[in-house]
Amino acid sequence: MGEAMTENRFQPVSGSDVPRFADIATFMRLPHVKAGDPTRADVDIGLIGVPWDGGTTNRPGARHGPRQLRDLSTMIRAVHPATGINPFKACNCADLGDAPVNPADVADALERVTAFYKQVHADHIRPLTAGGDHLVSLPILRALGRERPLAMIHFDAHTDLFDSYFGGFRYTHGTPFRRAIEEGLLDPKKVVQIGIRGTMYDGEDIEWGRAHGVRIVMIEELMERGHKAVMEEARQIVGDHPTYVSFDIDFIDPCYAPGTGTPEIGGPSTFEAQQLVRGLYGLNLVGADLVEVSPPFDPSAGTAWVGVSIMFELLCALATSELPQEN
Ligand code: MN
Ligand code: MN
Repeated sequence: MGEAMTENRFQPVSGSDVPRFADIATFMRLPHVKAGDPTRADVDIGLIGVPWDGGTTNRPGARHGPRQLRDLSTMIRAVHPATGINPFKACNCADLGDAPVNPADVADALERVTAFYKQVHADHIRPLTAGGDHLVSLPILRALGRERPLAMIHFDAHTDLFDSYFGGFRYTHGTPFRRAIEEGLLDPKKVVQIGIRGTMYDGEDIEWGRAHGVRIVMIEELMERGHKAVMEEARQIVGDHPTYVSFDIDFIDPCYAPGTGTPEIGGPSTFEAQQLVRGLYGLNLVGADLVEVSPPFDPSAGTAWVGVSIMFELLCALATSELPQEN
């Protein structure tokens, strides 16, 4: 691509110009482009917070994730160390602020978040979201998957394919992808879940997923076969179909990322997680999220640092979808 195309793209404020601890924190030190700002028309990838954890069934706090993740994201530099991708040169990226939420009403919060993402989608901006608990993926998919069911690659210790909690309540952070499949937002035969582990209720979530065609890669299979083989299979399953990526921080072992509501031991390292996300390059990615960082359980901010580092990996993967094809 020519320099003329790239010169108007927003660039992160460099730490060699303004110290990283100075000024108001935005995602990756990008400009905050508010609704109605005329420059929003030129944004390709929007970094968005959803400060909401109304779907959390046990240890709360992910509502505080976006603010903490913005703060830690000021440490991210522009160029990927292993692949050389500079997502801020490949695409025009901006911080679009937070989606509107209602901490006191689940149904109303889902509607507000869906409406926000419908506008993002209508503006042809691909969202990279910081949660929030995992239920925030459902209203995002309601906006992005309206025209046709999406494929999805999902990194998590849990399937989030449960039916209901507390006697028939169907909207929690354990149910978003069951609802998304039921609502036709996801094609279950093009959904891959990687890293599943932990003690179970009864395994009905896994049985339901497999019965509907979801490819569920338990942690033992991931560790046995390795990231290359598993991502090769995942890429074959989603093909060139529009694909969403959802990354729950509890996918990573709690020795690296303990600041989350539902930690499960025996998970991948941060390096293994980075290698897996690099396996997404070049797919037809329509958006991604990083959820379940819970600052109250993260007093060192170490889990938030892992979270924003994975967000940068996801941003680079999104950017590779936009790179012009070689002739
Ligand atoms: Mn989850
Ligand atoms: Mn999880």
